[in-house]
Amino acid sequence: MNVLAVGSVALDTVETPFGRREEILGGSATYFSYACSFFAPVNLVAVVGEDFPPEYRAALEKRGIDLAGLEVRPGRTFRWGGSYRYDMNEAETEFTSLNVFEGYHPRIPADYRRSGYVFLANIDPHLQLEVLEQVRRPRLVVGDTMNLWIGLKKEVVWEVVKKLDILIFNDAEARQLTGEVSLKKAAEKIVRAGPEHVVIKKGEHGALLFSQKEIFSAPGLPLETVMDPTGAGDSFAAGFVGYLAKEENLTSSVLRRAVIYGSVMASFNVEDFSLNRLKKLKKGDIEKRYREFKDLVSF
Ligand code: AMP
Repeated sequence: MNVLAVGSVALDTVETPFGRREEILGGSATYFSYACSFFAPVNLVAVVGEDFPPEYRAALEKRGIDLAGLEVRPGRTFRWGGSYRYDMNEAETEFTSLNVFEGYHPRIPADYRRSGYVFLANIDPHLQLEVLEQVRRPRLVVGDTMNLWIGLKKEVVWEVVKKLDILIFNDAEARQLTGEVSLKKAAEKIVRAGPEHVVIKKGEHGALLFSQKEIFSAPGLPLETVMDPTGAGDSFAAGFVGYLAKEENLTSSVLRRAVIYGSVMASFNVEDFSLNRLKKLKKGDIEKRYREFKDLVSF
């Protein structure tokens, strides 16, 4: 089943202890769509400026991502700059230039409106709401957000959260949104507001899936190479949603496997800058790493 992804397509300037790259292809919807395309057909809705490099567009097309919803507006593409210290668990935002995102209102093409699965990647929560007004009864709506929007527009973020089936974000964001130190309490607050499940990622330490009656803890796979964590959250969401899009029912074990596929995609993404690692990825690599995750916690 098709997955509709709405979020940012960006030119990122990223600095990690392993190097600095300028104006590389990034964006929440970019990472999500690219990684999700290994599991399901993806329809991308976002905006770029006239300066968006044709080779970046071609990279997305090459993976079969449908770009009919990628609007080109006069002006400059969204840009984000971030840096990481040695532990690399959280990005320090250096700058955010909304550019063509200012005054942008997502228009969902008619044939995308009946997409079975919708992923609201990190963008202005007002835009996330506009997307939900245009889609018709998807099987599943999953969403993400970030510290910037929680800081600027907490009320609107809650409006979005109430409309989600599943919220995926990281531990710091969960604490910031709910004001709870305990992740269990934070998840309970969110589940009371609407979503049936909450996934809280803990960077290299894995992820927790909270449902009404149970908690699942996925490990972080110890990796030899971690070059750039940018996009890890979106790649996680991609493996998670992409796997769910292939399954008939959202049973507890299906959801748990989805968390592991999410962890698998994130683990590949951090091994290089931009989409460089995902560009070399083969389906067999995904299954191999899935088994590594399984072996890691089997005793
Ligand atoms: P992640 O590392 O998965 O949380 O997401 C990283 C991506 O989010 C980067 O490639 C950025 O371009 C993008 N990003 C950063 N800030 C924002 C923002 N305020 N709105 C939308 N996308 C953003």
